Amino acid sequence: MDGSMKRRDFIKSATFAGAATMLGEGLSGIGQVAAQSKTAIKPVVISSQNGLKATARAMEMIKEGNDALDAVIACVNIVEDDPNDMSVGYGGLPNEEGVVELDSSVMHGPTGRGGAVAAIRNIKNPSKVARLVMERTDHVLIVGEGALRFAKAHGFKEEDLLTKESREVWLKWKETMSTDDDWLPPHDLDSKDIGEGLKSAIRTTGTINCNAVDLKGNISGVTTTSGLAWKIPGRVGDSPILGAGLYVNNEVGAAGSTGRGEANLLACSSVMIVEYMSQGKSPEQACLMACERIARQTKMKRLLDDQGRPKFNVNFYAINKRGEYGGAAIWSGPRFAVNTGEVESRLESCAYLYKREARN
Ligand code: ASP
Repeated sequence: MDGSMKRRDFIKSATFAGAATMLGEGLSGIGQVAAQSKTAIKPVVISSQNGLKATARAMEMIKEGNDALDAVIACVNIVEDDPNDMSVGYGGLPNEEGVVELDSSVMHGPTGRGGAVAAIRNIKNPSKVARLVMERTDHVLIVGEGALRFAKAHGFKEEDLLTKESREVWLKWKETMSTDDDWLPPHDLDSKDIGEGLKSAIRTTGTINCNAVDLKGNISGVTTTSGLAWKIPGRVGDSPILGAGLYVNNEVGAAGSTGRGEANLLACSSVMIVEYMSQGKSPEQACLMACERIARQTKMKRLLDDQGRPKFNVNFYAINKRGEYGGAAIWSGPRFAVNTGEVESRLESCAYLYKREARN
């Protein structure tokens, strides 16, 4: 185990020793982060690992004086447009019928607004449509056929989002599927031998979440994804649900997520992370507390390993008003991209609850 892992393990135990106390104190810490932020504004952009290059573009825009929302959306558009990223936008892996369905949400801190689309088909940049839901409707979330019609009304072009590569990966799954799908027979708390899709090597998950503080100290965030590959058509993950896959409070910070959306929907993690930060936790500590919350809440045996730990992973990315940042995951391994003003972004390791051994 290297030095940084030891540090992270230490932070982990310190976090949980303090967590109960902080929560027990209720809201007494609220305002602490906002008050301290008045001293200095430190711009920052954080994203999931797939935003390494795109976060550098977002920071460039922030340095030019753009609003954080413009910067984070420009960041994820680069990944949505990339046919080689099979988890987002064009080239994203499809549902079980071979159709790409996308989820996205945005939140704009300074105006306290948000917008989202879910299960939208044939639109390459759902994050732009989510922004229009926020800016040009009195709604927050539009789904499915209605979301597609709304996008077309605003001039978005319908296009086939399957690439040759993503269609071939889907075909391979289709041709080999057995227990590797989302349809479960009746089961109970103790059932273990179903839902094996969690283990599939070709069942990729992926998403991009990007959050930023701009030069005015304003905070925004976006999450966009093609969701879980081979999902049941119409399935909506955590990405378009404000409070689950994304949350922004302009006085405190922002948080977002990638990984198993079902777990995150049940834990409403992003709003919890922002609340933990408002109580004085660092972004990394707050993300770890969200991981712990999911681990505590997961009770179905089919989702747990022989030591009672979740088999799946969920990753969190957070920033606060002071420009501090951090990421954490249930299982070790994931990294996040961050830029604090440099020309190039860097990848840093997420803190974690459990160290992944070679066999799990
Ligand atoms: N969170 C996304 C979802 O559940 C998937 C992912 O991030 O891998 O739709």
